[in-house]
Amino acid sequence: MRTKITLACTECKQRNYNTTKDKKNHPERMEIKKYCRFCRKHTLHRETK
Ligand SMILES: [Zn+2]
Repeated sequence: MRTKITLACTECKQRNYNTTKDKKNHPERMEIKKYCRFCRKHTLHRETK
C-alpha cells in the first residue's frame, strides 16, 4: 500500500515534488535531499500533507 505525499523544501517552503512512499517502510515523515529550483541548489525536502 503506497501513499501519495508531497515534498516541500525546508528553506523556501515551496512544494517541489509529488511522490509516493510505503508507510510500512517510512511510518514517520520522510526527509530527502533534493534539488530545489527556487533555491537553485540541493536542500532538504520534508514530507507535507
Ligand atoms: Zn527551496
